[in-house]
Amino acid sequence: MTTDARRPIPPERYLDRLRACREEVAARGFAALLIGVGPDLRYLTGFVGEPMERITLLVVPSEGPVSFVVPRLEATKAGATPVAASGAARVVPFGESDDASALVARLVASAGSGAAGSEAAGSEAPIGLSDRLWAMHVLQMQAALPGRRFASASTIMRDLREVKDADEVRLLALAAAAADRTIDAISAGPLVGRTEADVSREIRRRLIDEGHDLADFAIVGSGPNGASPHHDASERVIGPGEPIVLDIGGTLAGYLSDTTRTIWVSGPNGIVPEPEFVSVYDLVREAQAQATAAVRPGVAAEDVDAIARAVIAASGYGDFFTHRVGHGIGLEVHEDPYMVAGNATVLRPGMAFSVEPGIYLSGRWGVRLENIVMCVRDGAKVLNHSSLDLRVVRG
Ligand code: ZN
Ligand code: ZN
Ligand code: ZN
Repeated sequence: MTTDARRPIPPERYLDRLRACREEVAARGFAALLIGVGPDLRYLTGFVGEPMERITLLVVPSEGPVSFVVPRLEATKAGATPVAASGAARVVPFGESDDASALVARLVASAGSGAAGSEAAGSEAPIGLSDRLWAMHVLQMQAALPGRRFASASTIMRDLREVKDADEVRLLALAAAAADRTIDAISAGPLVGRTEADVSREIRRRLIDEGHDLADFAIVGSGPNGASPHHDASERVIGPGEPIVLDIGGTLAGYLSDTTRTIWVSGPNGIVPEPEFVSVYDLVREAQAQATAAVRPGVAAEDVDAIARAVIAASGYGDFFTHRVGHGIGLEVHEDPYMVAGNATVLRPGMAFSVEPGIYLSGRWGVRLENIVMCVRDGAKVLNHSSLDLRVVRG
């Protein structure tokens, strides 16, 4: 992996995103967006942190300056973000005994007051709150801005974030490749005689070794545990003659990987899979392939789900495919757009999401195959490259 591919997202990119956000705030009639710590804030500013009781808010008004309200002890960190360093946002620090919500309320109240006659309209216009803002902070804002209407900022943030820019595509591809190498290494064995938890620890270690900054999840569902889609990893010992569902992912420079392979552990005596397992595996693979082939601009998200579901239902396993076929991925492992019945969102070039049909037979085993797929101008670009052939592991 070249260090060049891992280069940070350039400052101009953040400035572009913030500019696009401001245009939407004005175009959609919001007074301001209040963006708390989380993926929306990282997307707009590059600020990485954990939410805490002291509020941190990017105040994006429809007009006037963008303010980055932060506890004084984080002023230096906030000031180093590309948007603050370039002057696109000004850092507004507050002290330990200051009333931060009153400070934010003043910034919001002054937003939009620059245009003639906009005073009245400004107080009618909703204030958008980011999805990840804690309830305690929402209640503080409601108390500090009585009579104001609050709405979800995600109507704007979703539209911005679900179409990935070239830097995001580069990082998603790097993360996917690191997850693929991890799958390949684990599939080489040994597996027989080890606990799921032990294999899960090895997956987490390898996710990091292959380039992730964080190992987020490492599902190891052996035998009957594979029939529970979000089984984690237990003390169950992996035996010969059973399948394992491996669903793994980590974070690389903020961007997530998420891939699933189902493998067959034959053991040293070469126990072959039962015929129904092979036919179910082929069915899931066919559903995965057909849903991927359907991806192109203009197709509705729900159609990608419906195509996979139709393949599985036609063979009588429809009741055992118990979840949507996919989810968007980026700074969050699950984000818009969701590939699910009822979501008429039209796919656009740059959208990245999982295609992960599965069949789960309770008490027996499960099969799931998951790739991250991008909608591109002429169809689908698959970011995962590890083989979808059924792997048989002897050890
Ligand atoms: Zn999942
Ligand atoms: Zn997954
Ligand atoms: Zn997934």
